[in-house]
Amino acid sequence: MKYVKLFEELNKEDVAIAGGKGANLGELTQAGISVPPGFVVTAATYDKFIRKTGIFDEIMDILNATDVNKTKELQETSAKIKKIILDSYMPDDIRTTIIEAYNALCGRIGKENAFVAIRSSATAEDLPEASFAGQQDTFLNIRGPEDVLIYVQKCWASLFESRAIFYREEHNFEHSKVYIAVVVQEMVNAEKAGVMFTVHPSTGEEKILIEAAWGLGEAVVSGTVTPDTYWVDKKTEKLIESVISEKNIMFKKDPTVGKTIKVGVPEDLINKQVLTDDEIVALTKLGKRIHDHYGFPQDTEWAIEEGTVYMLQSRPVTTLNMDNGAEIEEELEEERIIITKGLGASPGMASGAVKIIRDTDELDKILEGDILVTVMTTPDMVPAMKRADGIITDEGGVTCHAAIVSRELGIPCVVGTGDATKIFKENEIITLDGDKGIVYKGKIAETEKKKTTEEQPAMAQAPILTVTEVKVNVSMPEAAKKAAATGADGVGLLRTEHMMLTSGVHPKKFISDGKEDELIKILVENILKVVDEFYPKPVWYRTLDAPTDEFKSLKGGEDEPYEHNPMLGWRGIRRELDEPEILKAEFKAIKKLHEQGYTNIGIMIPLVQHPDELRKAKQIAEEVGLKPQKTIEFGIMVETPGAALVIEDFIAEGLDFVSFGTNDLTQYTLAIDRNNENVAGLYTEGHPAVLKLIDRVIRICNKHGVKTSICGQAGSMPKIVEKLVEAGIESVSANTDAVATVREVVARVEKKLVLEAARKRLQE
Ligand code: PEP
Ligand code: MG
Repeated sequence: MKYVKLFEELNKEDVAIAGGKGANLGELTQAGISVPPGFVVTAATYDKFIRKTGIFDEIMDILNATDVNKTKELQETSAKIKKIILDSYMPDDIRTTIIEAYNALCGRIGKENAFVAIRSSATAEDLPEASFAGQQDTFLNIRGPEDVLIYVQKCWASLFESRAIFYREEHNFEHSKVYIAVVVQEMVNAEKAGVMFTVHPSTGEEKILIEAAWGLGEAVVSGTVTPDTYWVDKKTEKLIESVISEKNIMFKKDPTVGKTIKVGVPEDLINKQVLTDDEIVALTKLGKRIHDHYGFPQDTEWAIEEGTVYMLQSRPVTTLNMDNGAEIEEELEEERIIITKGLGASPGMASGAVKIIRDTDELDKILEGDILVTVMTTPDMVPAMKRADGIITDEGGVTCHAAIVSRELGIPCVVGTGDATKIFKENEIITLDGDKGIVYKGKIAETEKKKTTEEQPAMAQAPILTVTEVKVNVSMPEAAKKAAATGADGVGLLRTEHMMLTSGVHPKKFISDGKEDELIKILVENILKVVDEFYPKPVWYRTLDAPTDEFKSLKGGEDEPYEHNPMLGWRGIRRELDEPEILKAEFKAIKKLHEQGYTNIGIMIPLVQHPDELRKAKQIAEEVGLKPQKTIEFGIMVETPGAALVIEDFIAEGLDFVSFGTNDLTQYTLAIDRNNENVAGLYTEGHPAVLKLIDRVIRICNKHGVKTSICGQAGSMPKIVEKLVEAGIESVSANTDAVATVREVVARVEKKLVLEAARKRLQE
């Protein structure tokens, strides 16, 4: 058996031997396209390795005993198997063959210990066309025979990355029948590199799209820089349009083995056009040749070193949305290839190009219609979130920032995927299902355009009368119109955090810069949009509740303390009492609005756990001239078991209303960090302990004439709403998209209660 094959010995039919990547490089080489030379350590070599070393059975046993739906267990299994592979001695005959192939490659390149790129190329027995792209590792800048062996072995081990194991289980691929080939190829020390589509990637028009940046192609592929974009007419080979971007960063070869480094682009190149006219023409010609060779539109990666254009990769374009692409679309729809899964956080389907945001200074790359993918959204991402058609995060549960904001914006969202930022490719077209929490490859036909915050519902709801009020939550003032159009009886929660963001400055910076007036002005303008929209219906303004990790990227937020668990940290009223100037500014803004006649505002204090906090907050309100419980409604959120268990003491302190913040109440009652996707499966607002606390508070409040409401996510959940109405809650505040359903549920339960009471009376 031949352990390695030269590119010259492979073609596109050889996927079972060399994986998709290896087979394609062989095909391009054989077609005479300039590909950096190399060889493939075949899939069968890997198979031989795991069998000859005797680790095959051990690996399969570990896999069989693993429940892949348990993230921690999956990660442990992955680590264990990778260690077994890396610790196993590669049989000498394989070792020698790879070293000989590497030395021969060095001979061809004309350099001793030449630098190579080592890439994984997985394939499945019986189903070689199955795609495992992006699931396994690639290592750049490897040199020397010993390191080549080490990194080949690392590629083998990467067949057992958690995400790869999970993907195979999900798609019913037998682990024992998936193999991995490894491509070892001369490392091109690119001065410029990028990608090229041989047709318009979404419409299929006869245009070539080239994206280019300085240095190694990683910068473009990973989306770290916004590349230059060139559109070329395929027939005339004339440049139609070019957009030259600001390219601040580039990737370079690091002298240290196995690494590329990110460096700043020299000043004179930052805004300079990357490709010369001749290079654009050369790439265009190459693109056309490759397209013709495969007979199908191609998505390629290229690099230029010392004037030579190299092709590094070519695969079919799978994103076409044109007539002659209809076939692909249909196929995709039928197959619905799942790429990853998380929690459905905001309903609806959306398709678009992936834009991975690793840093807030990359937000500009989100254009209308893109899918924003990030570890976790922060409040300063909201403007970009509004432009996006869909949002996907690695972290978070259904009450995390991304979930709350996307629901309000009406943008489909999947949170807590664990791996989206790692497995998606920049610009890859995907479809997300915000109901099921699934992300599919490619565009699925049934996706619809997102709704905008300003959009009115198509048909006004026929009014249903309920005794229990049904209110709505608002986090973004610009969404107030849409929220009011639901016919809600008021705003049961107006969050402050987003209003503070419009300035891009941390509220405490306004204070320390002596600009309290500016802060008050921003608050007045924003709150006004909501109270005016709902007037005369009540709006409960919730004072600032920003966990320390959320405001870090605002100007002045740099010195926010680092907290191990911000959810249990310096947030809500506890922080505002430590920094009363911000609370005062909020109260002053409310006072101004009150004076202008907007007496429909009430004040709600978040995260209280002791009546002293309520007393102090009321005192501060009085200091600025408000009269809590006399001329302005004043209440608390019940978000801690502590507050629920001593609600009598809060009532004795004096308050008009309470509102259940079940997002927090659930996390504190069950000890489940609401932002931690590893425990999201246990996060249950309907847990009997949470319901018992709520029930207790409703009973006691009703006895004392204190109003009760709910504004956490549970207030949008029909099953829980039923229970709360039965328990005697006075109002329910739901998300905009849930108001109509909640109103129906409330009406149904009220009717049932009336009938039951009537029956009971008749029986007595
Ligand atoms: C809650 O905790 O339920 C709530 C509504 O507040 P937030 O989600 O803003 O913490
Ligand atoms: Mg809360």
